[in-house]
Amino acid sequence: CGVFGIYAHSKSSALTYYGLVALQHRGQEAAGIASTDGNRMYSHKGLGLLADVFKQGELENLNGHAAIGHVRYSTAGANTIQNAQPITLSTHTRNFAIAHNGNLVNAKWLRIRLEQEGSLFQTTTDTEVIAHLIAKANADSLADAVEAAAKQITGGFAVVILGNDELIAVRDPLGLRPMVLGQLGDAYVVASESCALETIGATLVRDVEPGELIHIGPDGMSSRRFAVRRQRRMCTFEHVYFARPDSDVDGWNVHTVRKRLGRILAKLHPADGDIVIGVPDSSISAAAGYAEESRIPYEMGLIKNKYIARTFIQPSQELRDTGVRLKLNAVRSIVEGKRVVLIDDSIVRGTTSRRIVQLLRSAGASEVHVRISSPPYVSPCHYGIDTATADQLIASTHDVGEICGMIEADSLAFLTVDELMEGFGFSGTTNVPFCNACFTRNYPTELVDSGLKEAHH
Ligand code: 5GP
Ligand code: SF4
Ligand code: MG
Repeated sequence: CGVFGIYAHSKSSALTYYGLVALQHRGQEAAGIASTDGNRMYSHKGLGLLADVFKQGELENLNGHAAIGHVRYSTAGANTIQNAQPITLSTHTRNFAIAHNGNLVNAKWLRIRLEQEGSLFQTTTDTEVIAHLIAKANADSLADAVEAAAKQITGGFAVVILGNDELIAVRDPLGLRPMVLGQLGDAYVVASESCALETIGATLVRDVEPGELIHIGPDGMSSRRFAVRRQRRMCTFEHVYFARPDSDVDGWNVHTVRKRLGRILAKLHPADGDIVIGVPDSSISAAAGYAEESRIPYEMGLIKNKYIARTFIQPSQELRDTGVRLKLNAVRSIVEGKRVVLIDDSIVRGTTSRRIVQLLRSAGASEVHVRISSPPYVSPCHYGIDTATADQLIASTHDVGEICGMIEADSLAFLTVDELMEGFGFSGTTNVPFCNACFTRNYPTELVDSGLKEAHH
């Protein structure tokens, strides 16, 4: 998911909308904005892309000088309108809206406890668990209540909370999920990625620190810690796939990292080829690095249709078999008779690679050598990235040779985890400031809910 928040700007909801447009790649399933004028809160949300949810009129009703927003990619909870965010909650003491990127590993456990104590849940999201913890906290201020809640939750979270006249942002103690702080004149901005700041003309001040709570209100900005400082564990998959190449995440520019990974791939996993092709869009940077290092020319052998979102009707298997290829097309005049080195950022379920190898062969490629700019994705993410379960992950049950056969490539190679770390300038994997759990099965937190019996829904 993507989150955004702004305080002290007369066009807060419009700027939130544009900030979310820059974060649309982080979630296409639902979107929403909540705003406040200091007295009243306004909100609008719905299913689909931002452009589907906001059609001018709705945005004009979102008054006020502060706003938060969300684009949703469902990890926990079904894709229903109830699960769209921000979630607003008002009790006799508190009135706030909340939006969350990430996934908690103790949400089920907390929810059972909260329900035993009388909390009534409207949604199936872990975000509502955070909302109830805030609502119930025995604290004087909203910031204190958020701090109390943040101390009880475990996992990946970058959360924005809008009060009547205040904006609060928290980032999980390990920094699993990204979040940045920016400024636009006198206004403060927080966002999942720095590209959202640039889009609205704001400047990047810094990353929100892991375990940090930022409060912005009439008296300006203040910061406190809700967790002791520990080794950072930034999600490497943000760099590999999820984040936009123009974003800087925890000080590393995403495009630069991907390009370096492509160079390492070329150096350590070479292939004899005539052209290098990257799978658009997320693999273009790595493919550029691979081409530079290998001196094999880069070609635009695959063209992606820019207008296909996940909300579009996908062709059935039968229509696909007849050649309906909405998303990607291979350029025959470029690939015909060529030995292609195909660069992709990751193999998750394995269906994409297989389809692209077939696409290239049917356009006349003589050989297809697949090179992946990350290690085999062997274990599910519990912190907010992928919905796939272990049995859907092709690399959790198959080795590289088997996967090569299944995707029908002439050869296949991945980066090792050490090589991935080399892309960030680290040698070896001990004590690195990254989470690599989906590649190593070594999770940086306890997986509380995984130990629970499935008694609860
Ligand atoms: P798969 O192997 O599952 O068929 O697809 C892997 C491809 O999907 C890669 O090209 C990668 O860019 C992309 N990908 C990786 N992780 C995710 C994810 O969490 N969601 C979506 N929609 N695509 C992903
Ligand atoms: Fe990122 Fe993988 Fe860790 Fe999940 S398990 S936070 S995808 S590195
Ligand atoms: Mg891809």
